[in-house]
Amino acid sequence: MPDAFADLVGQDEAVATLRRAAAAAAAVLRTAGERAKPTAAPAEDADAISAGAGGDPGAGMTHAWIFTGPPGSGRSVAARAFAAALQCVHGTGCGECPGCHTTLTGTHADVRLVVPEGLSIGVNEMRALVLRAASTPSGGRWQIVIIEDADRLTEAAGNALLKAVEEPPPRTVFLLCAPSTHPDDISVTIRSRCRVVPLRQPPAAAVAEVLVRRDGIAPDVARWAAAATQGHVGRARRLAGDPQSRARREAVLAVPRRLTGVGAAFDAASALIEAAEAEAEASVTEIDAAERAALETALGAGGTGRGAAGAARGAAGQLKDLERRQKSRATRAQRDALDRALVDLAAFYRDALTMALGAPVAPVHTDTAELADAGARSWQPEGALRRLEAVLACRTAIEANVKPRIAVEAMMLALWKG
Ligand SMILES: [Zn+2]
Repeated sequence: MPDAFADLVGQDEAVATLRRAAAAAAAVLRTAGERAKPTAAPAEDADAISAGAGGDPGAGMTHAWIFTGPPGSGRSVAARAFAAALQCVHGTGCGECPGCHTTLTGTHADVRLVVPEGLSIGVNEMRALVLRAASTPSGGRWQIVIIEDADRLTEAAGNALLKAVEEPPPRTVFLLCAPSTHPDDISVTIRSRCRVVPLRQPPAAAVAEVLVRRDGIAPDVARWAAAATQGHVGRARRLAGDPQSRARREAVLAVPRRLTGVGAAFDAASALIEAAEAEAEASVTEIDAAERAALETALGAGGTGRGAAGAARGAAGQLKDLERRQKSRATRAQRDALDRALVDLAAFYRDALTMALGAPVAPVHTDTAELADAGARSWQPEGALRRLEAVLACRTAIEANVKPRIAVEAMMLALWKG
């Protein structure tokens, strides 16, 4: 049975909340349709939705939502599924009607998706978005703005968003995605205006099931990929289907074997950094070139008539601006690639630690379980824990803006020394 929430894996509680809210939202639309002038609602609330339907605050709909959870838990999948349920002509998220279909494929006129490309979402982008979100929904239901990585809003952009969330137009819904509701991720004032939907890390078995059902991946490969990526749905799918992604993971998991001396530790650090750079470059090069070509065409390279000099100065500014944004995006892609590698490496030492403790849990990396077991025996729990902490400290340092190469070199030395 098709269903807008089908791909939201292992999140039964969140799905139940969102289904109730979608039903309440549909009831609001019906009421507004039946009564040209609502009399039960306070005048300034018109057909606003915060009161919900039926008096149960748990069932109610509200204008602003935050989806939180670890990477890969499905924050943006949840936001999109909820948006589909709100635009669904049946009000349920049937997955089949035009409202559901266009929302899920990203072509609905009243659903805007913001995916930050650089390290942060800027104020101009946010102002334009807020302005458009205030217009009347063309489909007669809701204007929906989905902001992926809302933790990457600049302070000014956050303030622009806050104004809209504080005084929402009656038919506008904001869906924000962030790792957590910690003040580092989302401002306290925005948080206080939103309802939070916490998502958990989905169990590997549930992820494997969706890879088999939706992507047609063989069950044994799906189970391995789901375990190796610790329930990260998107990464599991790539790992199962993309040879390059497998090769990168294997190179990372070879690191513990390669740490035979100081020189080897520095070599391993260089290899890790360069692999992240290469992966990032591969992901942005094509789109960088396409953007530049499109801008140059739009600017009409090489005019000579009156005003051409002024136009050329303006064009140079726009190209500079594009280069700046592209550089920011490349930095972000590099950090993300490096972080994925560190997560894989941390899981290896976590496997060694659980083995050293004799804990009855399955290893994350079944294919390096023997190596982790050998490590567990020679390091003891304390040694395995120190190594795990060295990897986590490296992630923290990079987050705190320590130069990645320096942080990774320090980590490799710590791993070698044990
Ligand atoms: Zn539908």
